[in-house]
Amino acid sequence: MSISDSEQPVYDLHCHSTASDGLLSPAEVVCEADARGVRYLALTDHDTLGGLAAARAAASDKTLCLINGIELTCIWQRHCIHVLGLGFDAEASCFEPYLARLDALRLERAERIARKLEQKRLPNLLEEALAIAAGGQIGRPHFAAALISAGIVETAQEAFELYLGRNKAGDVKVDWPGIAEAVEVIKSAGGLSVIAHPTKYNLTFTKIRQLCDDFKALGGDGLEVSYPGVIPDHTRELQRISSQRELLVSGGSDFHSNNNRWSALGRFPPLPIKGGHLLHGLNAII
Ligand code: AMP
Ligand code: MN
Ligand code: MN
Ligand code: MN
Repeated sequence: MSISDSEQPVYDLHCHSTASDGLLSPAEVVCEADARGVRYLALTDHDTLGGLAAARAAASDKTLCLINGIELTCIWQRHCIHVLGLGFDAEASCFEPYLARLDALRLERAERIARKLEQKRLPNLLEEALAIAAGGQIGRPHFAAALISAGIVETAQEAFELYLGRNKAGDVKVDWPGIAEAVEVIKSAGGLSVIAHPTKYNLTFTKIRQLCDDFKALGGDGLEVSYPGVIPDHTRELQRISSQRELLVSGGSDFHSNNNRWSALGRFPPLPIKGGHLLHGLNAII
């Protein structure tokens, strides 16, 4: 793989498809990324590898280089954290039990979310949420869509503000795997692990530094420093935190759909590919 430093967007190491809570199929994600000039794309659905085969088939006649990806939900010090796995062997046997456990946790959580919302005098939305997920990994955004289709809220934002976001009824506690286990499964499958969107967990920078210390000690590889919504000062601080710990830096759009004009594949604040970039780490393994 050769990496050029030409104009953006050249890479996007974080995006979603219908295999989890995205609205485009894996093939559509690949085609759209390719059309937008993305040369290195990682499809990183939440807690599933289910979209990768279709994405790979769609990439087969494109110049775009598809990188295997996943976004694992895990726990660090009681905080729910997202860790990206990139460039692993999707056939690695360590994934099967790990992902079966996440499937079970997410299904059981969905049942509990439905019950909690019923206690708020809402209808039972489990069937509708599962129907919207359509076989993809079930998540809170599917409940947001079910709330919209039942006419209870108008937007996903409103659904999160009223029912699904932090400390709301649908924000049920889950015994996700610990961050050590997430790093371990990615490493065992030959991939690199990256802390996703570190400023989106409601953590102070002191806590983010501790998280990065622990992550590095566990064998973690990188930190996402450029993503939609991050402010330039925070990106600079995250770059400092990365270089102090010899973590690679990464960037991605966290694309889910074309429903708002701020979100597009390949769109995130420019992060030049120079020393210490995650793409260089991937270059060594893919
Ligand atoms: P889950 O993985 O089921 O816990 O759901 C988390 C997902 O919900 C994130 O990956 C986002 O796609 C989405 N999400 C989180 N907060 C919001 C919000 N305020 N509005 C819309 N979507 C959100
Ligand atoms: Mn999501
Ligand atoms: Mn995330
Ligand atoms: Mn994501």
